Amino acid sequence: MTEKPDPFTVPFGSILCDWMTTASAEEGPFVYRGSPEPFGDLSISPAAHVLHYGSAIFEGLKAHRQVDGSVAIFRLDSHVARMVTSASRLRLPEIDPSLLHQMIVDAVAANADEVPDPPGSLYIRPTLIGTGADIGAAAHPASSALLFVVNSPVGDYFKGGIRPLTLQLETSTPRTVPQFGMVKCGANYAMALGPTLDAMAGNEAIDQVLFATEGDITETGASNFFLADDERIVTRHLDESFLHGVTRDSVIQLARHLGYEVEERSIDPEELVDWSERGEAFLSGTAAGVAPVGTVIYSGKTITIGTGQPGPNTLRLRQALTDAQTGAAPDTFVWRTPVGSQ
Ligand SMILES: *Cc1c(COP(=O)(O)O)cnc(C)c1O
Repeated sequence: MTEKPDPFTVPFGSILCDWMTTASAEEGPFVYRGSPEPFGDLSISPAAHVLHYGSAIFEGLKAHRQVDGSVAIFRLDSHVARMVTSASRLRLPEIDPSLLHQMIVDAVAANADEVPDPPGSLYIRPTLIGTGADIGAAAHPASSALLFVVNSPVGDYFKGGIRPLTLQLETSTPRTVPQFGMVKCGANYAMALGPTLDAMAGNEAIDQVLFATEGDITETGASNFFLADDERIVTRHLDESFLHGVTRDSVIQLARHLGYEVEERSIDPEELVDWSERGEAFLSGTAAGVAPVGTVIYSGKTITIGTGQPGPNTLRLRQALTDAQTGAAPDTFVWRTPVGSQ
């Protein structure tokens, strides 16, 4: 094996670990051979369903090096459950949760020596694609499918210290379509890419687009959105229009535990403008954890949130999340799955 770069010096997701797990379903349930295999290219037909009709879903979760040196996966079963739901939404073959659980644990165990120390972590990418070779299957589910789990050692999302993000509020172009709002599928990223790049082309300070179709603030292309002050956090109530982040759920449970009130409800742009005078805003997601929002650009106006710097409540929740992930705090909610190395 050639020497790999330090994950703290290269872009997120650009290094891949030596081992992966795969399972295929051919007109029946997924079959997993029960052990990892060396990372390598896949072989699929040019007529594979995924290449023509977009039958691709994925998950994103992390394993963290614990304060005692061991490795634990964060909220494994919540991610497995979401992937099971995503598969059924794309009419891909049903995933047995215990099989996917085992494939993830086995991959991480095989790659355990590649898990960086905090603030780095091991990013875990389970993926499911329709492989059935039939370009006539536009209106049929894929007849066969491949489920695989690859890992990537990642550094700190915020290189050189935590930095407040700048978001552009987008009220006309939607992020996705109603039937895919809560599904973690590749197609959603294809849809959000154009509007996000267009926003960035107009203003190089913009980090992400905050989607607020018809004045209903939901999320960015890959993170959920929160308002916070000293007493409460506010985030969009769950429905099928947006992705139900596992980090969103973790933040809600940690905030309640710390004594914050949690309001899950609609948020409109005018409330965000008012809130900016006295409160904080942040994003939540597996990649960045809790990420402070410093500025929102809304119909040409630049709105500074609070002081424009990371607020104390945002930083407190960010620390609580990190402590839960790395074993610096007790596992109050039973979120960590320990992984032995092989
Ligand atoms: C993955 C994802 C999120 C964040 O979900 P987590 O489970 O917290 O990582 C938010 N929005 C979209 C569209 C996503 O795909």
